[in-house]
Amino acid sequence: MKAIEKFIKTITFWEILKGLKLTFSTMLTKPVTRLYPIERPVIPPVFRGLHAMRRHPDGSEMCIACGLCAAYCPTGCIKIKTSEGPDHKKKLDTYEIELLKCLFCGYCVEACPVRALTMTQEYELADYSKEKLVYTREKLLANGERYRGKETHLD
Ligand code: SF4
Ligand code: SF4
Repeated sequence: MKAIEKFIKTITFWEILKGLKLTFSTMLTKPVTRLYPIERPVIPPVFRGLHAMRRHPDGSEMCIACGLCAAYCPTGCIKIKTSEGPDHKKKLDTYEIELLKCLFCGYCVEACPVRALTMTQEYELADYSKEKLVYTREKLLANGERYRGKETHLD
């Protein structure tokens, strides 16, 4: 019985007809493609895009230079240099995230005890040089300013 069924399907080009049916059925539906970048996608608040560092309302930086984000990072792409401040507290000297190594896993954000680090909906990160993909403290703070007050990951 199976052999007859197979023979009939072969001589009637059954599989091709099935494929054509699917092709013609999609011709009647509205296309789902977007005319990017004119039509922008809606990015959900929990999207893990470019990192941002936050400031307190008085403008001071929230980061306490504890280094937990770097310690938790599975790829070691966060580089921090600290020194002792005049009040004997740790002071952040430099902070860098090497985006080419980043997995956008969000562990650094979860590890931060003071919520100084967050992730934003920024996703257009392509560039022509490796150097531009190293995000310094200044660039991360500027991104934080851009997203200030907006919903960001884990907010
Ligand atoms: S998102 Fe993940 S890989 Fe990227 S810096 Fe944070 S912990 Fe490291
Ligand atoms: S961003 Fe957060 S976890 Fe990283 S050094 Fe600053 S305070 Fe610590």
